[in-house]
Amino acid sequence: MIVHSCLFVQLSLKIFAACANLGAHLLPQRHEERKDGSRNSPLRSSCLCGPSVRTNFGLRLGCSLSIRGFFIINMFDILQKTLRTGVVTTAYPKTPPEISSQARGRPEIDFANWKDARPSAAVCPTGAIALEEADSMRAATLDLGKCIFCGLCAEADAAIRMTSSCELASTRRNALQFTARYQLKSDGTHQAVLELPAAGRLPAITLDDVGKNLEKQIRKMFGRSLHIREVDAGSCNGCEVEIAGLNSPIYDIERFGIHFVASPRHADMLLVTGPVTRNMELALRKTSDAMPEPRLVVAVGACGCSGGIFGQNYATLGGVDQVLPVDVYIPGCPPNPHALLHGILLAVGRMHRQA
Ligand code: SF4
Repeated sequence: MIVHSCLFVQLSLKIFAACANLGAHLLPQRHEERKDGSRNSPLRSSCLCGPSVRTNFGLRLGCSLSIRGFFIINMFDILQKTLRTGVVTTAYPKTPPEISSQARGRPEIDFANWKDARPSAAVCPTGAIALEEADSMRAATLDLGKCIFCGLCAEADAAIRMTSSCELASTRRNALQFTARYQLKSDGTHQAVLELPAAGRLPAITLDDVGKNLEKQIRKMFGRSLHIREVDAGSCNGCEVEIAGLNSPIYDIERFGIHFVASPRHADMLLVTGPVTRNMELALRKTSDAMPEPRLVVAVGACGCSGGIFGQNYATLGGVDQVLPVDVYIPGCPPNPHALLHGILLAVGRMHRQA
């Protein structure tokens, strides 16, 4: 019914605007045909209807109506398109994240049947798979805070597969590390499993809980809103592209009352990307100091969590927690908007517990 009414109004306006346009083009001819030889004002003005028109009442009326008609028609075109498109915003976190099957998330290791950790550790570019050996025993650790989801380990080892799992944020850095211990054979392959990674080390909080309580928590702490200041402390810009996606109609982070702000003085949360270059260390400290208490710090991406592919070197410090206490780590390279949303919601939950 509403659509039909809109279409009817749109059609009427189109006819009206067409008449106005016609009037705008006919009126000058009538004035030029005056019998007494008088002419219209020599002053001319530009308008959207043509290169120039004479400035008289008829023309101005016709012109004004046609311009208004033009904008009103455009407005109805936009409304019509919006109705056709429908709601594009994801229902996340009420529903699971809608991740493309092509998207690459965390690697998953079959620790119980892992025959040899050396090939994957050798190809891992960030040291996310690390080995320690002593007395015919090996401790193999997968560190998701360092992983850039490149998939090289899965190509080198059949016991590893890449998943599209992206909700990996954690309030503890060591919760992103999974260690298994093995008894070794003489050739260095695994003979027996001595210890598997502790189950359930990732936060026990569920997204449903976070989503349900979020509005209440934000309202309580920040008067219905949370403000985020983002600092790029030397990232490649990949994380920034994903963060910008949070403001798109698809993810629409503002539906939670969460806004990005320009000044740290207005911010409750500091979102930091990059391995923290030595040149950005002071700027990061000053930004944090400028924020009012209580404040949250969220490290974004493999670089923010651990230094990522850059690690610790002459130019980079190796992660945000080398400079500031971090409340939430969001792994990924870069983390997609769902992963970012998960981490930000987790941070808000933590703030509630601190209060
Ligand atoms: S996906 Fe890449 S960075 Fe991550 S553990 Fe495997 S090889 Fe290392």
